[in-house]
Amino acid sequence: MPIESYNPHTGRVLRRFTAFTWAKTERILDQAHRAAAKWQATTFAHRAEILRRSAEILRERQDDLARLMALEMGKPVTDGRAEVLKCATCCEYYADHAEGFLADEIIKTDASRSFISYQPLGVVLAIMPWNFPLWQVVRFAAPALMAGNVGLLKHASNVPQCALALEAIFHDAGLPPACFRTLLIETDQVEKLLTDDRVRAATLTGSEGAGAAVAAIAGAQIKKTVLELGGSDAFIVLADADLELAAKTAAQSRMINSGQSCIAAKRFIVEKPVVKDFISLMKTHLLAMRPGDPLDESTQYGPLARPDLADELTSQVEESVDQGARVELFGGQAKPGTALFRPMILSNIKPGQRAYAEELFGPVALVLEAKNADDAVRLANDSRFGLGAAVWTADAKKGEAMARQIESGAVFVNGLVKSSPELPFGGVKKSGYGRELSYLGIREFVNQKSVWIG
Ligand code: NAP
Repeated sequence: MPIESYNPHTGRVLRRFTAFTWAKTERILDQAHRAAAKWQATTFAHRAEILRRSAEILRERQDDLARLMALEMGKPVTDGRAEVLKCATCCEYYADHAEGFLADEIIKTDASRSFISYQPLGVVLAIMPWNFPLWQVVRFAAPALMAGNVGLLKHASNVPQCALALEAIFHDAGLPPACFRTLLIETDQVEKLLTDDRVRAATLTGSEGAGAAVAAIAGAQIKKTVLELGGSDAFIVLADADLELAAKTAAQSRMINSGQSCIAAKRFIVEKPVVKDFISLMKTHLLAMRPGDPLDESTQYGPLARPDLADELTSQVEESVDQGARVELFGGQAKPGTALFRPMILSNIKPGQRAYAEELFGPVALVLEAKNADDAVRLANDSRFGLGAAVWTADAKKGEAMARQIESGAVFVNGLVKSSPELPFGGVKKSGYGRELSYLGIREFVNQKSVWIG
């Protein structure tokens, strides 16, 4: 993939970047490695001050950053500003809580004193996707930096300016430059970095294929990884649910980031008696959403991030229809090679169809009919993925019981699945392993050291 900013709304290349040579990458790695020793000796208060200043700068630059995301990957500016503010909140959250999360934990044993001490690992490589170009990075960087680690970022090739803007924010906030660097590199250098002893761990957010490739290399080096991968989240609607609210939230969830969110609801598993009404209501909500130029304040969804992603989604839809899926709402691409993809609803989703098995990373809602609550849980779990899920029912106890049965990293009952700094985020099955956010996230990249004193 060339490293370039490409505007998916206009189809124009805005800026091309020359990839770093290995010599340049290696120099930056060496600086980061040396900086790690100094950074881990700083106090939590000092690191918190820098994270708080980063949050202030994020807020000051929210318009510019939202514009950059709109230009590089088509995110509507109103969504972009919300993403920037969420990043600021995350920086402040870890500035406030990191010290408590990593305080020594006294454990009673046969020692006179024994405890767990949480200590930084050093250089962590972060490989990140384009869909939330700032949030994905900050939810790694804020806890990692607060823990005393330093970060090297290999961002997706289509968002280089977002990656550089974030690097500038941390530096302008007072972080020693070597403690967080953006590497404008192609994937071939990732293996070299992972096999270098100075890189102590890696985190990847992205597709299953990229996750498997990175984890295999890191595994051979006995290096810790966190993987945040794809999802095909179930959104279960029981017959007793508030159907209007469920359908409105369903449309909202499917359309997060123009349909390109790992935790967007993708499979709508609806009890038979309400399936027709649910489809009709969701259709109304989807049709009410306004497409347009991501720079326009009134735009509710923009193009997909690249035309090839829209082409791929079209092929998933067409093959699924050939395999028996029924089109309930016509939409999709106007023509191949264009990035705008209007929302679609497909029903009669059955095993053997691509849509049943794969993640559809764009605004296509899949409707599956369930006989009852048990059948809904069975369908929800009949997926290679396990990231998020939602259950809609008037019976909160039943919803909670179903939440416990669903194989996923999160279940929301009567609510929109979302990430927030307080709750851990991550998946099971092919959605990955490890957790980001909360106190669990900051403990991923630390040495959880037992100290025993006789
Ligand atoms: P992607 O193609 O896997 O790319 C993600 C990152 O991995 C990019 O930086 C990419 O670099 C890099 N990469 C790709 N192949 C690699 C390889 N073999 N070795 C090393 N690095 C490699 O994913 P995407 O299309 O950007 O993002 C969409 C996917 O991410 C979806 O499946 C979505 O569900 C998932 N996602 C998951 C979460 C979560 O928290 N679980 C959040 C957001 C997105 P290049 O750009 O240079 O190829």
